[in-house]
Amino acid sequence: MNRHNPIGSRALCSFRSTWMGLRRLLGGILELVFPQVCLVCESASKAPLCASCADSFSRITGPVCEKCGKPCVRPVADCRECRGKHLHFTRARSGGAYTGSLKSAIHSLKYRNGKRLVAYLSLFIDDEAGHLMDAVDAVAFVPLSKLKESGRGYNQSGLLAKELARRHDKPLYTGLAKVKNIPEQHRLGFARRGDNVKGAFRAFGKVPERVLLIDDVYTTGSTASECAGALKQRGAAVVYVLTVARTPLDGSKGDHRRAVVDSCKCR
Ligand SMILES: [Zn+2]
Ligand SMILES: [Zn+2]
Repeated sequence: MNRHNPIGSRALCSFRSTWMGLRRLLGGILELVFPQVCLVCESASKAPLCASCADSFSRITGPVCEKCGKPCVRPVADCRECRGKHLHFTRARSGGAYTGSLKSAIHSLKYRNGKRLVAYLSLFIDDEAGHLMDAVDAVAFVPLSKLKESGRGYNQSGLLAKELARRHDKPLYTGLAKVKNIPEQHRLGFARRGDNVKGAFRAFGKVPERVLLIDDVYTTGSTASECAGALKQRGAAVVYVLTVARTPLDGSKGDHRRAVVDSCKCR
């Protein structure tokens, strides 16, 4: 049997080149109708996050409070923000200050269907996650209420946790649930957030002994602490918290380091 069929090969080549041409044309039309832009600054960008926005994320560097991760002028065991609070987690860390382009990126991830930013934001905290991965058995995330998650279509913290777990080859624990409908934390003053979130979370199934809990933003630590408490009630011994960003509580509008140097009275 003659396996070589020059007419068939030519037809296949012709079909392929027509298909590639159509794809290029379609791509060009889509780019005209929906131009590719940075999801943060909306300038033209092939990537969902432009280099300029990525470079301007305000990273937290230097000494921090050992417990809650607040930037301080020198390392301290606890600080003004966490001293006297009964926080259930072992320690918390954040990648950057919740301000500028980092704040916009998180906003876009949560409220503008910016799921394509997950890769970038998880990469932003990947080093810190890497430091903690050897000390944990699994990665977990702060859950949303069922209503909110079905409205949004996803849980941004869940997507970040999934990506970090995949990258570091750790299991993802999905048994944390929000079991109480409560007013949203960001709609309340800082003082009321601790009480508001009490009893809002429960852990189900077999809880790993050492857990890395992922969230998008750390503010008062109340939510992370309640989740850590729920995990510990079901057997976790150690819960580390890692968030993409941290809100300053000191009125510094995000410039943690300057606020720290100007006014740190932690010790
Ligand atoms: Zn940008
Ligand atoms: Zn602290």
